Amino acid sequence: MGNVTPDEPAGDQPLSERKQGDRYQSQSLAECITNVSAGSTKKPILATMLTTACERNCNYCIFRAGRAQTKRFTMSPDEMAKGFDQLQRAKQVEGLFLSSGIIKGSVTTQDKLIDTATIIRKKYGFKGFVHLKIMPGAEYDQVYRAMQLADRVSVNLEGATADRLSSLAPKKDWANELLKMLQWAEQLRRDHPDERLAKSVTQFVVGAVGDTDLELLSVSERLFRQLKLTRVYYSPFGPVANTPFENLTRTDPQREHRLYQASFLLRDYNWNIEELPFAASGNIPLDVDPKRAWADEHLRTAPIDLMKADREALMRVPGIGATGAEAILKARRQTRLTDLASLRKVGIRAPEQAAPYILLDGRRVETQLSLSTQSVLRRCAGLA
Ligand code: SF4
Repeated sequence: MGNVTPDEPAGDQPLSERKQGDRYQSQSLAECITNVSAGSTKKPILATMLTTACERNCNYCIFRAGRAQTKRFTMSPDEMAKGFDQLQRAKQVEGLFLSSGIIKGSVTTQDKLIDTATIIRKKYGFKGFVHLKIMPGAEYDQVYRAMQLADRVSVNLEGATADRLSSLAPKKDWANELLKMLQWAEQLRRDHPDERLAKSVTQFVVGAVGDTDLELLSVSERLFRQLKLTRVYYSPFGPVANTPFENLTRTDPQREHRLYQASFLLRDYNWNIEELPFAASGNIPLDVDPKRAWADEHLRTAPIDLMKADREALMRVPGIGATGAEAILKARRQTRLTDLASLRKVGIRAPEQAAPYILLDGRRVETQLSLSTQSVLRRCAGLA
């Protein structure tokens, strides 16, 4: 079995899910096991590529054509499926994320990804999690087949617009090779409502070519609403030696963090792009959580009454998410929420965060906050 790689080009997971360090080349499949978040638990997943050879030349990518320093390794669908089966029978992995460099065109490469998944499902009977990459410019029937075999498919747009993509990846066509695949995926789910078809996700490379958060989040909002993507990944750019982008500046990881926070507000909290606090630069400020920035501007002068607000309004309050809002709605049918302690009792873990933006028992809670803060300070000082 040849060497393989643990990371797909430019990664597909948020930072917290990635292994530390720049380990692009590994010596065995077992080294390609990575832990990804699945709810509150972590799952070991085999994350690898069928080949590290590629005929495209994306400017940021370690696997780009012509980069002599990259060792190229290739596995056949049979080899990959067998290797995965051995790992999952040994209980070392619970799922597969499979990508590939492009050799002999996207259609040929996509066929090999599909063949691998077919062997894993049919010959080895694996019923667990499979995430397949869709190659740029794959055919409609291939997208359909991949969605039948996998739980998740990804088509990485990489750039927020066609112009940004042409700076990142001169041989990729944003509208015809990438966006169209995501449109097909959503159309297929609508046309086949009784079939269990994969969900779709995408990824952007952030910060290499002047892209703004406004561009990235605007297109993310459209992808969530119109094409029903379950997640958008933001991969902060990091320069790779011996690529055209080797001298560009690494993207601040805090920018990635703020993009995820803003993206979750769009996806899970039903916010609109206009409500996000963009600076004049078109970026989300790095120094404050976007939800808190919005609350500072809107709720300090018009706090939310926790006994009267609806679910959506409750979720506007820093420190209160979907679960917390549900808990408040349920609790207030039976009791009055009169102080921060009563919020803690229903499951709001840090009610102090919410305090400046809410009314409890019709009153602001600064006094309660200062009393509870004093009590904490006394305890810390060993006085209580
Ligand atoms: S298509 Fe681009 S991003 Fe993907 S492996 Fe090839 S060079 Fe890297």
